[in-house]
Amino acid sequence: MAKRDYYEVLGLDKNASEDDIKKAYRKLAIKYHPDRNPGNKEAEEKFKEAAEAYDVLHDPQKRQQYDQFGFDAPGGFGGGGFGGENFNMDDIFSMFGDIFGGHSGFGGFGGFGGGGRQHAQYRGSDLRIKVRLTLLEMSTGVTKKFKVHKDIVCSECQGTGAERGSHAETCPTCQGQGVVIKTVRTMLGMMQTQTECPTCHGEGTVIKNKCHKCGGTGVVKGDEVVEIKIPAGVADGMVVNIPGKGNAGPRNGITGNIQVFIEEEPDDTFIRDGQDIIYNLLLDFPTAALGGEVEIPTIEGSKVKIKIEPGTQPGKTLRLRGKGIPAIQGYGSGKGDLVVNISVYVPKTLNKEEKNAIEEFRESENFQGDNITKKSIFDKFRNYFS
Ligand SMILES: [Zn+2]
Ligand SMILES: [Zn+2]
Repeated sequence: MAKRDYYEVLGLDKNASEDDIKKAYRKLAIKYHPDRNPGNKEAEEKFKEAAEAYDVLHDPQKRQQYDQFGFDAPGGFGGGGFGGENFNMDDIFSMFGDIFGGHSGFGGFGGFGGGGRQHAQYRGSDLRIKVRLTLLEMSTGVTKKFKVHKDIVCSECQGTGAERGSHAETCPTCQGQGVVIKTVRTMLGMMQTQTECPTCHGEGTVIKNKCHKCGGTGVVKGDEVVEIKIPAGVADGMVVNIPGKGNAGPRNGITGNIQVFIEEEPDDTFIRDGQDIIYNLLLDFPTAALGGEVEIPTIEGSKVKIKIEPGTQPGKTLRLRGKGIPAIQGYGSGKGDLVVNISVYVPKTLNKEEKNAIEEFRESENFQGDNITKKSIFDKFRNYFS
């Protein structure tokens, strides 16, 4: 089953205050508490779901990460840290101390009810956008503008869904409560349970005279330019969650999110390896042998000079600290490196002069490669027999 948005679980919007979150959770915790719903598997799931949502949203740091990245936060809300199986009842009960101001026992449970019932709100669906970024954009972060075709609030009815001059009326079935009380016979006797009102689906209101433009939904299709901020440090395959920029929720409900799927633009010069940037340097033979200075490009477009030691071998690696990609804020610190992998260019064509010059060094001991050791052993033997 798809995970529900944490705000949706608590019936709140993105701007909910810490107090709102606490109140909303408290209500749900009371409603779905196992003591009140013995043997009700659905209630238990709802109870767990609310606890998980609360655990993330009441912690400012976790909330900020969730707002930015949704369940795909690098730390992982979905599969890793929390999420279904790992989140057990003991964890939830240990949170009650926090929410109920130190009451750890459940005896006084009934006392927390009251307060106005929050009516169900519709939520607009999420939009998905693919964004291709250069290494530089990933390194510095970038703001992009997109024209998106999506559900927007109906201008005719201001999102209410009711025809101009009319308005939504209190639901006759539930008298605006959004829920109906049913009396059911159980093993423990007659019990009252609350269920969503079948007429208004929890809204508490019904629209008799529907808006002609949106047909009562309160939303219509339209284009909107949205500005999307991508933080520095993202990588190919990541999903950045932009809260509240997706489809408008029907009847002034909660606006969905935009999920931005990050793609890396292939680069001719650099290869990304995590936070490091790899540059393959093909060094000319004289500089490798004699030493010197070469210029290395960086992802910012500037160049840096690096020193080449005399006798530099192919396969040598140099690290330019902090010239790579930064960590995403909140998920580490510092920057990666620019890693220079050195190989040495051996000329493929030579003119006569060059050939002669190199030929002169062929027998020189300093120019011997793999066979230098073999040669010295051979020499020893020759000396021995002569
Ligand atoms: Zn309308
Ligand atoms: Zn109703």
